[in-house]
Amino acid sequence: MNKALVNHAQQQLDDINEAGLYKNQRVITSKQGTVVEVDGKELINFCANNYLGLSGRQELIDAAKDNLDNYGYGLSSVRFICGTQSVHKELEAKIAEYLHKEDAITFTSCWDANEAVFTTLLGKEDAILTDALNHASLIDGIRLCKAERHIFKHMDMADLEEQLKATQDKRLRCIVTDGVFSMDGDVAPLKEIRDLADKYDAYVVVDDSHATGFMGETGRGAVEQEGVLDRVDIITTTFGKALGGASGGCIAGSKEVIELFHQKARTTLFTNSVPPVVAGTTLFALNYVDEHPELREQLWKNTNYFRDEMTKNGFTVPESVHPIVPVMIGDGKAASDMADDMLEEGIYVIGFSYPVVPIDTARIRVQISAIHTKEQIDQLLTAFEKLGKKYSII
Ligand SMILES: *Cc1c(COP(=O)(O)O)cnc(C)c1O
Repeated sequence: MNKALVNHAQQQLDDINEAGLYKNQRVITSKQGTVVEVDGKELINFCANNYLGLSGRQELIDAAKDNLDNYGYGLSSVRFICGTQSVHKELEAKIAEYLHKEDAITFTSCWDANEAVFTTLLGKEDAILTDALNHASLIDGIRLCKAERHIFKHMDMADLEEQLKATQDKRLRCIVTDGVFSMDGDVAPLKEIRDLADKYDAYVVVDDSHATGFMGETGRGAVEQEGVLDRVDIITTTFGKALGGASGGCIAGSKEVIELFHQKARTTLFTNSVPPVVAGTTLFALNYVDEHPELREQLWKNTNYFRDEMTKNGFTVPESVHPIVPVMIGDGKAASDMADDMLEEGIYVIGFSYPVVPIDTARIRVQISAIHTKEQIDQLLTAFEKLGKKYSII
């Protein structure tokens, strides 16, 4: 082993550790769910993106087994050689219908979808206008693309308008935003963004990963909640959160645009197709969420209950509607110590501090699921009260 390389890695690890940014993985020995087993201890889990509780749901597991039997385990191929099965086409047709678009294409992750979404469509004649807090996968996707990059201040429509004015000489203008931002659970002003796009001849890409399946009247996402489901040009999203939580992602849009991804996108041309078991089970999940609106209703009931009680108890919880509920602590060390103490209370939550979030805005991020019981949420509330007092937060 090259000594210089090993030393280089060790130095970096030491730096990460000294900066207090070292990530220790907790190993779960059970299925994903509201209760998980860690080190032989049962913890109530409040940090999964398992919004509708589908990740460990028996109906999905059964559907996955059927799909394994019907389509096999793997395809050993990219899409255009011998990696497209009927299940991929059926899933893509379903996604298109679900998101009110003409067509859709699947990828092995939303990360791969976001890597494809800019380079395939844009070149140096074009401009991308991107929210300052967009997801890392969008940032990297933009880096791979030769289009001019313009970062607008987070959700700042005046700033976006200035940059639209400044890019009127470009061939195409692409505005891109997360539908919901994962650190604060805040929802992008998608209607205002769409209206500005219309005014300045731009197209709109929304990454709705934290909303597809449960936000809006029928669960179509933040795009539906904000009234622009039919008005955004392109939606990217993940199958790795509310829709069963395995992996995979997609892009939905007009049929010409989607066909161009099949022809040109490197993250489909040079990498395997979505495993059929995941494709088939995601298809099942999309139908399942439509047949079970009570899951969405329960998610919002649980979310509102937790938000209201925390506010009543004197905690600072930024105003929003999303099941991502950041409980503001302020000091980074307090947030991390408090998250550790929570484990003693039988609760699994994560503290986030600088540089993941701005300095002095350290928080414990709680994520509510439709399958949390009132008793579990009450246990969380009690733990927050106890530790909030211990750390002088309330
Ligand atoms: C989680 C997430 C992704 C990544 O999704 P994967 O399918 O796991 O690659 C992309 N964008 C946003 C906004 C996300 O929240």
